Amino acid sequence: MNEMIGTCPRCEEHSMMTPLEVNALSRTTRGINDFAVWVCSDCGMDEGLEDAFHTGATEQIRWPMKRTFEFFIKETNIQTAQLMNDING
Ligand SMILES: [Zn+2]
Repeated sequence: MNEMIGTCPRCEEHSMMTPLEVNALSRTTRGINDFAVWVCSDCGMDEGLEDAFHTGATEQIRWPMKRTFEFFIKETNIQTAQLMNDING
């Protein structure tokens, strides 16, 4: 059975990767009885930052949403890309 992968349910911006397990497991679904929900890696990072610096990951009721740490994540991604470039170059 093929599962619908489609777009990240949290930001509705990024496409999900296959297999589903390479995406980030949402921090809102880490309870024992929770149904696993997967989000894109940027949202996974955003939830981690919300958890660390905010009041915890934004609940699914408020999805889709704009990433709380969007700017920070973009900066980090650019820096990581530059770092990889330095290593490879
Ligand atoms: Zn997302």
